[in-house]
Amino acid sequence: MVVNSLRNNNNKSPQGHADKSRASASQGMTHQQRLREEARRRQQSQFVAHAAKQNQNRKEQKVYKKDTPRPAQVHKKDVTHPPHKVGSVAPVQNTHNKPKKNNGPRPQGQKSSRPPRAGGNRRRMGGTPKEILVGENGKRGPQKSKVLAIGQKTLRIIPIGGQEEVGRNMTVFEYGNDIVIIDIGMQFPEEDMPGIDYIIPNISYLKGKEKNIRGVIFTHGHLDHIGAAPIILDQLGHPPIIARDLTLALLKRKMEDYQPGGADRLKIIRVGSLDQKIRLGEFVAEFFDVDHSIMDAMGISLSSPAGTVLHLGDWTISHDPLSIERISYEKLADKTRPTILMLESLGAIHKGPPMSEKKVQKNLEDIISNAPGRVVIGTFSSQVKRVGYILNYAERIGKKVVLDGYSMRTNIEVAKELGYIHAKKETVIPINDIHKYPDNKVVVICTGAQGEANAVLSRIVNDAHRFITLKRQDTIVFSSSVIPGNERSIQRLKDNLYRKCDNVIHKDIMDIHVGGHSTAEDIKEVINQIKPDYFLPVYANHFFLKESAKLAYKVGIPEKNTFVLDNGHVLEVEVGKTPHILKHKVDTSYVFIDGIGVGDVGQIVLRDRQMLAGDGMFVITVLIDGKTKEIVGNMHITSRGFIYVKENFDVVNETKRRVRDAVKKTTSKSTSIDWRLVEKSIRETVGQFLFEKTQRRPMVLPVVIEV
Ligand SMILES: [Zn+2]
Repeated sequence: MVVNSLRNNNNKSPQGHADKSRASASQGMTHQQRLREEARRRQQSQFVAHAAKQNQNRKEQKVYKKDTPRPAQVHKKDVTHPPHKVGSVAPVQNTHNKPKKNNGPRPQGQKSSRPPRAGGNRRRMGGTPKEILVGENGKRGPQKSKVLAIGQKTLRIIPIGGQEEVGRNMTVFEYGNDIVIIDIGMQFPEEDMPGIDYIIPNISYLKGKEKNIRGVIFTHGHLDHIGAAPIILDQLGHPPIIARDLTLALLKRKMEDYQPGGADRLKIIRVGSLDQKIRLGEFVAEFFDVDHSIMDAMGISLSSPAGTVLHLGDWTISHDPLSIERISYEKLADKTRPTILMLESLGAIHKGPPMSEKKVQKNLEDIISNAPGRVVIGTFSSQVKRVGYILNYAERIGKKVVLDGYSMRTNIEVAKELGYIHAKKETVIPINDIHKYPDNKVVVICTGAQGEANAVLSRIVNDAHRFITLKRQDTIVFSSSVIPGNERSIQRLKDNLYRKCDNVIHKDIMDIHVGGHSTAEDIKEVINQIKPDYFLPVYANHFFLKESAKLAYKVGIPEKNTFVLDNGHVLEVEVGKTPHILKHKVDTSYVFIDGIGVGDVGQIVLRDRQMLAGDGMFVITVLIDGKTKEIVGNMHITSRGFIYVKENFDVVNETKRRVRDAVKKTTSKSTSIDWRLVEKSIRETVGQFLFEKTQRRPMVLPVVIEV
């Protein structure tokens, strides 16, 4: 599947980050810096928080410089909260029951072009990323796993991620002293995680067991399966990685994006033929074809003395395959028993009959050949196969193709290099040559059909694209599904496109998109073909997994043989016994990536950001004479995202008066100052006052300095 998709509402748009058309504006930046810059620009909703934070940083520096106090006398806390707010902010926990907003199916999510970056920067900055994890109970610091050591002749299956979300897919398989991992994906942040770029799997369970890791197998090259690899492989000491060519090529790109030269560190075992068997300690891995929206997707049969795991990665059943024979999974029914089927279940609630990719193709061909002007097709960059055939068709009828959007260009470039997409050199033209061809000879394939601010399609419609200005006779095609949560931005985008163009075509008008995932019927069919002993729905939010389990019951899998696991659950399989889930989970709490930090943003920082984004901040700088305990000079008040100080003299003056009172009440000429008490008093007094005045609860930061 394709988490590659970002939801717009968290303003982390994935696509088209470093488009050529912006290149000039960001000259002199490294690729990584440019990506970061783009990501930042998108975080409009978090702007307040960031502005406030930065301002606070500047403020601090200023205070230090101007007053040059002895360091010990600066009493300023990093994190201070007004008295009432704390309970109102949801703590960051990774509990499976937590409803995840807008985290529904992203059936054909677009590929994010945002690679884990930071490695390069990190080096330059000379720092090592800090590992501050948010523990399962919201406590900071890595938690000790209560999971006991593995018994003999026991197979453990531990999903580290991907069981409660779409993304950060990673599953650990352990038998004796051997560990095999399938997929290391990334997840995009939720709405309530301002400033977070993405989330990676938590590998606490593997700490100390790195030497046991015999290999990491990647099912395919979408970001929710490979996106966190550059960071995690590094942390695991670079165990061998196993994948097919396109996946490997995309992984190498990811590694290089993260850190120049990073790809050299990969220890690669290439799956050149599906007949290959790879021994990984006590495990033996075999592979089989699966149908998905990207080439080289494969399923894995991982046998151990305790049983055979069958994992399809992301899959669909093509009911009218374009190029290859329809895939059957029946041969998997012959594997050594017991067999444990791990089935990606995003399609579990897709009840209707499957759509036809052939029909989609035919419709797209009609649109492209009959278009009176240019054709602009917005789609997911993860749809490598579809982009490939659009390219071929355009070439056949003598049209030129422009690829726009970083992820779009990268994916197609890599697929072309490997020969998965054949196109003549002159078919794909650079975007700045677009004006050299008549309008009806040009097809633009771009990212941004989810309405992501600043992605290509949004820039085109907002007249912010350097090379493309819409004309009435242009044809716009949305060849993608709506990712839940993006409805509003897509609607806005459509409205704007309808204003500018006469020909806007989307799914409601014509079949122009079919996802890379299965339907409920397909799930039942695959279970019937494979006839597994045990069934584990995987790689989707909890409700999909439950729905998938129900489908399994319908085709005869007993409930006791079906396991809907959460992240961190440990399923133990022993010969002759029914598998069971251990009482204790392994720690799978979020590890956030923000800028150059890996895991150094924890619950407290996040709560501050939520608070800042909600009601802003209010900084009060007070100088107190160390001898007289009197306030010296003018109190300085700064506010960001709360009120505009210059227009609110009354509030500001009253605040100052109350601060004076608070200082008076908590200090005495004869005793030394209790800084904590003074600060607490200011914070509470001011917090209370501001709430009474405004019904808002900004973060109140008292900066008390002794002079
Ligand atoms: Zn996928």
